[in-house]
Amino acid sequence: MKRVITAAIAFAFAAGMSNAQVADGDLAEDQANTSQILTNGMGRGLQRYSPLDMVNRETVKNLVPAWAFSLGGEKQRGQETQPLIYDGVMYITGSYSRVYAIDVKTGAEIWQYDARLPEGILPCCDVVNRGAAIYGDKIFFGTLDARVVALNRHTGDVIWRDKIADYKAGYSYTAAPLIVNGLVITGNSGGEFGIVGEVQARDTETGELIWTRPVIEGHMGTYKGEESTMTGTLNATWPGDMWKTGGGATWLGGSYDADTHTIVFGTGNPAPWNSWLRNAGQHNDGSGDNLYAASRIGMDPDTGEIKWHFQTTPREGWDYDGVNEVIPYVDRAGNMRYATADRNGFFYVLNREDGKFVRGGPFVKDISWASGLDENGRPIYNEENRPGNPVESADGKKGEVVFSSPSFLGGKNWMPMSFSRRTGNFYVPTNEWGMDIWNEPITYKKGAAYLGSGFTIKPNYEDHIGSLKAIDPDTGEWVWEYKNDAPLWSGVMTTAGGLVFFGNPEGEFIALDDETGEKLWSFQTGSGVVGQPVTWEQDGEQFISIISGWGGAVPLWGGEVAKKVNYLNQGGLLWTFRLPRELAMAQ
Ligand code: CA
Repeated sequence: MKRVITAAIAFAFAAGMSNAQVADGDLAEDQANTSQILTNGMGRGLQRYSPLDMVNRETVKNLVPAWAFSLGGEKQRGQETQPLIYDGVMYITGSYSRVYAIDVKTGAEIWQYDARLPEGILPCCDVVNRGAAIYGDKIFFGTLDARVVALNRHTGDVIWRDKIADYKAGYSYTAAPLIVNGLVITGNSGGEFGIVGEVQARDTETGELIWTRPVIEGHMGTYKGEESTMTGTLNATWPGDMWKTGGGATWLGGSYDADTHTIVFGTGNPAPWNSWLRNAGQHNDGSGDNLYAASRIGMDPDTGEIKWHFQTTPREGWDYDGVNEVIPYVDRAGNMRYATADRNGFFYVLNREDGKFVRGGPFVKDISWASGLDENGRPIYNEENRPGNPVESADGKKGEVVFSSPSFLGGKNWMPMSFSRRTGNFYVPTNEWGMDIWNEPITYKKGAAYLGSGFTIKPNYEDHIGSLKAIDPDTGEWVWEYKNDAPLWSGVMTTAGGLVFFGNPEGEFIALDDETGEKLWSFQTGSGVVGQPVTWEQDGEQFISIISGWGGAVPLWGGEVAKKVNYLNQGGLLWTFRLPRELAMAQ
């Protein structure tokens, strides 16, 4: 650990930092309280909707930069963080497992924490971090060597830290932690290395491990150091010993549904990618589904016991990780629903009581691997679009190549969508792309890539890859579409001002009209935007922040698309905008 402290205490008082402590009630009302942002998702339901409307369709043109903060150093790469704001301080995470405390009024640094990462970490998809959590007087975040760290929010000093799993086996951590009832709850990353997806909960005060819940059938959970229950039923849907290295990384973290007291985590691809090694048949009887990979899992936050699961892609074979965020909301008829937009290209509405499928449909244009969903939400497979079994090829080394859409980077990847309470629609950052994909033989080796597949991503259209869509969850209708040349990789935020905020890799931070998709405002940030916007109220004015810094999975894995966007510059600036009071009424 290397910590750079810039006269922290003096600055802390200059910033007006007090001894205030974040309590459970503060987290519960995070969406409604517009003066602070305490949770990933601007509320643990991840709606990313603000009731603020000073910045609206008329006044957004008057937004001006207030300050910008450089993450500095030689360490650039993808900046995907969502800021937290509390007690006069903004807390952000940066690439390479860094945390910064910034005076929210001036943009001056208060402290920074730089986790010293060992040689040999194995992040699959850039050295990103997607944000921190706050509770009591501590800031929590995870590191690329798969640790969870609690820092003193005033000084950046380490209070405790603990290992999630062994980074040498391919584990890492990039998501924002989730806090429920005094527990800090984390997932894990590493689905390309044959790890086993798991959710863990620790005491925020001491770091003591309270429960663990592996998400692949056959593995045992724990509660307070003792075995609790097995996940699923051993070998019910996995052949032989494949479940032992079965993947299902819970790499995007989770949401919390306070109404049902349920945490919901998504689980990534089963390992390896080559699905023939996990299910040699084409049967649809469920015996080769590889539970609970590529699923959403509802859990009791106090014990880690599984309440329900919904699998989006049984015997998944395209790396359609099912990790995407699950957002609790109330539909127009007053029903308690979840919505989630899967990497596989389908948008799902689920029942909040039991996770059961209500309805679903495509949110991208050219899904090739399935023709639709049946009445239970199970995909209707196009078997000829399954990458071929290498065992059946002439030399046994490369199975039949197929062109599948969406690509493995997904109809939507990690970048979070938003639910507008104003319109009742979801605003979904999507990408229209496909891939050539084939299977190869593979055997598990600790710390080595465990794919058994090869691939090349290709754009589906000449004039756009990115596509931000407004989707009516009650009908599945696409209300409008905003096309973008490069693939979208930034989070989305909606507001009561009728606005949709997001960024693009070309560097623009953009506001659209939530009813029409018309572009109302944009600002060139200087590097690609792959971060997550937030807004809050301060001294009677509305502020908006977004981090800029191109990177993430696209430049590393994007194939022909990566070549298309290789002109984009790296960076690392947190931009903050304000609507000056005298311009709030101007039109
Ligand atoms: Ca994956």
